[in-house]
Amino acid sequence: KKIGFAILGLGELTETQLLPAFEKCRYAEPVALVSDDTYKANELAEKYNLRKSCVYSYDNFDEIGKNPAVDVVYIVLPNVMHKDFTIRSAKAGKHVLCEKPMATNISDAKMMIDACKNANRKLMIAYRIQHEPHNRVIKEWIDNDVFGRVKVIECFNGEYIDDASQWRFKQSLAGGGALMDLGIYCINTIRFLTGNEPVWVAANMYSTPGDKRFKEVEETILFQMGFEDGIIASCAASYSLNYQRYRCFTNNTWFGMDPAFAYSDLKIEVSKTNDGKDSPLPVVKQENQFVLVMDHMAECILNDKSLATPGEEGLKDQYVIAAIYKSAKQKKVIFLNEITEDN
Ligand code: NAD
Repeated sequence: KKIGFAILGLGELTETQLLPAFEKCRYAEPVALVSDDTYKANELAEKYNLRKSCVYSYDNFDEIGKNPAVDVVYIVLPNVMHKDFTIRSAKAGKHVLCEKPMATNISDAKMMIDACKNANRKLMIAYRIQHEPHNRVIKEWIDNDVFGRVKVIECFNGEYIDDASQWRFKQSLAGGGALMDLGIYCINTIRFLTGNEPVWVAANMYSTPGDKRFKEVEETILFQMGFEDGIIASCAASYSLNYQRYRCFTNNTWFGMDPAFAYSDLKIEVSKTNDGKDSPLPVVKQENQFVLVMDHMAECILNDKSLATPGEEGLKDQYVIAAIYKSAKQKKVIFLNEITEDN
């Protein structure tokens, strides 16, 4: 049996990545679509052989509870909408796979976790990097000190977006700027790679004066994180350039990925050896990350297994995000233990 997914939000990610990815899934299949654009929903339903009765709008969404073919609702909407639809999905008796960031503040994230717990449903955050094989090799190297103990990590995630009308530039829909959308990859990936939590953060943000994209949210944010075991991470996220990589430094070498967070063609990099020669690189299979995420969720439901990236994992990032914004606003170092739901 395959697990049935309802996709909520038929934007770019759904159309270009998620719906095509189902074809390669072993355990997940699309069975319903939810959108306020009936024309587009019907068009996509026809393309993917879904019955018209399996197309829902935001208004009649709660009726999805009566559809036994739907096991999971995959929420692919602007960030601020994740909370309400997670709660509505759990109330309708459905498991939830939610896009990153799971929410835009700590208390919403907690409500989402509670709603799914109370309904005895699983809540997974679609952190595809944690399921991606190249990044998992880097984690193994760090876990086993293969190149020595990692002391410093440098991580950058940028994506140039020039459409000023995008929801990503509206605080009321995005809940934040480059940090909420892109910097979260730096936070979540470094937490995953090191298996460590940040103790303090220090941040600065910048938006070009007069750029109409950045009236409400930040363009670029620079942040440092100090981890429990002494690792320091130096990170940046920006909407004004296309670049994404990380490097992990030990006392005499470095290794990392460039690109690190793309959908495909990911590449591991290792510094040249001391005598100037290229280091041998491992051969790692490129996998479709969306297939890995959806199949993981489906497999965990089929076998009642624990999720690798549950709601609690998203909540941890919400604390770090709150601390980073607080640091940037107050222009001082913020310790994570100062952060509460009110931040
Ligand atoms: P998008 O703009 O392409 O699509 C958004 C969808 O939400 C559209 O179907 C739109 O109709 C719908 N919508 C409902 N109410 C809306 C409103 N008030 N304003 C705008 N759109 C509204 O966005 P996207 O790039 O697909 O992003 C959706 C979610 O997926 C976000 O949370 C984003 O962070 C996440 N995302 C994740 C990845 C990843 O690699 N994991 C990549 C892209 C996006």
